[in-house]
Amino acid sequence: MTNTLDTTIRAITNGAAPGETCTDDLAKGPWEFDATPGYGPGSSMFDVIPTGTPRQGALPAAYQDATQEDLHRRIRAAKDALGDRLVILGHFYQRDEVVAHADFLGDSFQLANAALTKPDAEYIVFCGVHFMAETADILARPEQTVILPNLAAGCSMADMADEDSVEAAWEELTSVYGTEPDADGRAPVIPVTYMNSSAALKAFCGKHGGIVCTSSNAATVLEWAFERGQRVLFFPDQHLGRNTAKAMGVPLEQMPMWNPRKPLGGSSREELMDARVILWHGFCSVHKRFTVDQISAARESHPGVRVIVHPECPMPVVDAADESGSTDYIRRAVADATEPTTFAIGTEINMVNRLAAEYPQHTIFCLDPVICPCSTMYRIHPGYLAWVLEELVAGRVVNEIAVASTIQDNARLALERMLAAKPRN
Ligand code: SF4
Repeated sequence: MTNTLDTTIRAITNGAAPGETCTDDLAKGPWEFDATPGYGPGSSMFDVIPTGTPRQGALPAAYQDATQEDLHRRIRAAKDALGDRLVILGHFYQRDEVVAHADFLGDSFQLANAALTKPDAEYIVFCGVHFMAETADILARPEQTVILPNLAAGCSMADMADEDSVEAAWEELTSVYGTEPDADGRAPVIPVTYMNSSAALKAFCGKHGGIVCTSSNAATVLEWAFERGQRVLFFPDQHLGRNTAKAMGVPLEQMPMWNPRKPLGGSSREELMDARVILWHGFCSVHKRFTVDQISAARESHPGVRVIVHPECPMPVVDAADESGSTDYIRRAVADATEPTTFAIGTEINMVNRLAAEYPQHTIFCLDPVICPCSTMYRIHPGYLAWVLEELVAGRVVNEIAVASTIQDNARLALERMLAAKPRN
């Protein structure tokens, strides 16, 4: 299982990877770069370190010095000792050597739901990033404890919309739109947050009549919001918002960008009055790397190639691709192809490599020749997994992610609205 990851790291070490935003830091052990106040070295070196970002303490030397074989043996032993008291969740973008120990593999929402199928598990160890563990905690039973093996595993996109900036934006928008509904009873603006956001922002949406979306159901959620509001404030990912609204027929001129550093987000009052979707100035450092040129190159080198990209990619890339869809859409597209097919995929490299290994009848490659994993997800190393599990065996909980009770209810409300939202037909 480690071959694809080893190949990736070797490529980074050998200099194949460094590009505009990707460094060779990922070739090191995560405890080496977690010792300095960097944030997401690799794909997100331009990201500002958000205030209050959880910081990981030093991993005990016994784990740093252990061999991979030893770590795997210890993880297996701890899993056996904990039995049904434990469930381990692994995200699609996670390293192979961590996924090997996961009870469930999926996207963030699938994993939060998978945890619900294990109500007797006392411990949910989420091998993903911070906002995913928060969502699992919101949906879990109160007696269950959610653990993130490395607290430095945040999401650079999620951190691009912080609670204070969104509250400030809401205040400014309210000053423009007022609070009164129109003749059809629609609110001036409905907040919609992507799943990739903090629990505090999900709670913000719950409190202000808004909702959460995933990359699978963004169109359904926008329909829900347009039934209840004249316009939408969509955060943090501008690309998912733009790609989804454009496919629904919203003109680009009615999708101004909200830059939290500028008055009125950088738009005029008239532009905001005319807006249908106000897009937060956020993006995913991994998916932003894909380009139209890469698609052209893939088509030239592999005539007949089927190009599928994630909707977190920029609009020109989504427009140029044959299809776009969530990680689960991509997985199903590959799994359902009955004839040997060549796929060029625009999403995170660990997932693409895993699909290539799983479906050898197809030719599957990543659109981006400069290999760059989700560097924040990548921080969950088997060393951290072994550490949190052995601590549990010893009766100690480390790295618990507990969403404050003051925001649990509103965050759950926004998630429940999403679950209840159904496509029109
Ligand atoms: S791939 Fe992008 S959006 Fe997903 S966890 Fe990594 S940084 Fe965040």
